[in-house]
Amino acid sequence: MKKCALITGASGGIGSEIALRLAKDGFNIAACYHSDEKGILELEKKLRLTDAEYRLYKADVSDYEQIKKVFTDAAEVFGGVSVLVNNAGISQQKLFTDITPEEFDRITDVNFKGVYNCCHCAVPFMVSKKNGKIINISSMWGVYGASCETVYSATKAAVIGLTKSLARELAPSNIQVNCVAPGAIETKMNNNLSSEDKAALAAEIPMGRFGTAQEIAGVVSFLASKDSDYVTAQVITADGGLT
Ligand code: NAP
Repeated sequence: MKKCALITGASGGIGSEIALRLAKDGFNIAACYHSDEKGILELEKKLRLTDAEYRLYKADVSDYEQIKKVFTDAAEVFGGVSVLVNNAGISQQKLFTDITPEEFDRITDVNFKGVYNCCHCAVPFMVSKKNGKIINISSMWGVYGASCETVYSATKAAVIGLTKSLARELAPSNIQVNCVAPGAIETKMNNNLSSEDKAALAAEIPMGRFGTAQEIAGVVSFLASKDSDYVTAQVITADGGLT
């Protein structure tokens, strides 16, 4: 049986391209989403054209019990999850003083606790197999910090911290844990930017353009493959040279 890759946020721009790329790379796919039925059905249409077996799972990454059920089902259907891609995330642009305690909790619960929840459910199987790959989608802002995205950036920095520590803890079990830190990528997450804002940001990027979700999926594909077996605890930035 093929190995299974579980991708969170698979209804979104980057997650759907990762799911499709890993299906084409030869994995079976557990595609998780939260609310976007249309987005996940679009992905399903494309997955049907691949050789992969797949399941779609609706779950909130911030809810441990919901995530545990997903992993239990994936273990029954696919025999366990060998590659975990923690991609689900939410962003927010606000002055620090305008961020409410409730907003702080929500963004932290999704972007950071969600990564803990999925890793916690994934690791026992990977340890038992002495094999596994965990790929966390952080952000260049998690490395450098971003004005008016303080809490978002802090959650993405926390994901990097978790990645580096978990990588060291799991290295003896032959499990590699890495981060991808995308720059500005053309997805609905940036829909709040006006075309003028986008043009101004693109002008600051040495490559002169936003990245595509496929370009991030390519980096994930490498980290999910045997070619990256000696790569762990790393943050790979894909930002067109911006940072
Ligand atoms: P997107 O198109 O908005 O996708 C976000 C995904 O996260 C959606 O599939 C969404 O599911 C899912 N999600 C949100 N809340 C969730 C929850 N509580 N439980 C489970 N899933 C949840 O954004 P994207 O650009 O593809 O972002 C993917 C990742 O890349 C995020 O972690 C983001 O922070 C990171 N990133 C993006 C950029 C960029 O410029 N786009 C740059 C750096 C990093 P539903 O839609 O089904 O609710």
